[in-house]
Amino acid sequence: MKITRMEIRKLKLPLQRSFAMSFGEMNRKETVIVSLHTADGLTGYGESSSFSAPMYTHETNDTCMYIQEHFIAPRLVGREFDTVEEFCSAYRSVVGNRMARTGTECAFWHLLAQRDAVSLKHLVGGTRSTIPVGESIGIKQTMAETLEEIEQRLDEGYVRIKVKIAPDWDTQLLAAIRERWPGIDLTADANAAYQFTQHHKTLEALDAFNLSMLEQPFGADDMIEHAKLQAKLKTSICLDESIESLADIKTADALSAGRIVNIKPGRVGGLVESIKIHNYAVAHHLGVMCGGTFETGIGRAFNIALASLPGFIYPADMSPYQLYFAEDIVEPSYTVKLDGHIDVPDTPGLGFAVREDLIEQFTTQKVVVR
Ligand SMILES: [Mg+2]
Repeated sequence: MKITRMEIRKLKLPLQRSFAMSFGEMNRKETVIVSLHTADGLTGYGESSSFSAPMYTHETNDTCMYIQEHFIAPRLVGREFDTVEEFCSAYRSVVGNRMARTGTECAFWHLLAQRDAVSLKHLVGGTRSTIPVGESIGIKQTMAETLEEIEQRLDEGYVRIKVKIAPDWDTQLLAAIRERWPGIDLTADANAAYQFTQHHKTLEALDAFNLSMLEQPFGADDMIEHAKLQAKLKTSICLDESIESLADIKTADALSAGRIVNIKPGRVGGLVESIKIHNYAVAHHLGVMCGGTFETGIGRAFNIALASLPGFIYPADMSPYQLYFAEDIVEPSYTVKLDGHIDVPDTPGLGFAVREDLIEQFTTQKVVVR
């Protein structure tokens, strides 16, 4: 397939409500949508679901667009690629910048799925037709508000509840949840808000709440601290921000820094690296879950395909768009069934129709490389 044009757009999407995490509050969501256009008339879409500020990883929407325009697109446009390996090797000189690479790589997977008339699930080697999903509850003003939202999500069928925690928003919250729902699948995500020396006693005490996992208590680089805590904790640590590559999961495994990995294609640089991490984790008896970074329906389509691989035994963070966005840019978007599962599309291509009119409407900045 010959790439004749790459378009990079920043979209600003209206949110239904804000979402707070230990590192900040999000009131609007900007994202970067990449499209690759071929000489045969195909269009492949991908998403770099970075944020406006470098709060989750070092990247922002603007750095993604800059890297894509100046360092990735010039290595792709005018060239022909038949496999994802050939495609990725064209810009292998671009190190880091994993979100920028993800949006680009996913657009090529979408082209491949169209060329071969197969589903993304088929392309990545997925085996499941449905995946269980859980909901992630942000940090709220009050306990009552949090409990109310949990109740609502459980009524809607979600099979796992994840709460965002931070120092001073942890023990009391988890105790209140456990008192009301002693048996639910409950996890806590700290988004790197704790420090070992200061907080390890508090974190060790979280064992009392029978969490199915404690996600990323310490900073992304604090692999040793995670290993020290995991050695003392019955609860499994799930590494999120710490795992950006296959090399990172190998390090984590060698140090016993955690027992579960949260794979987000955006954080690790695309589906190729995600599949490598998944395969390593399965071979080394580590648990795998699929997360996300508030992707629109375009980015989610790739996350859903990935989560259909057999190692993803924990419920995915995969809320329907209505929980956050006023409108999605695919149609129909997916829904969570009452049994807490979503269907994995098995039709050729993305599995969802792209609303190009809405992409146009939400675009605030556009770059075309031809
Ligand atoms: Mg997380």
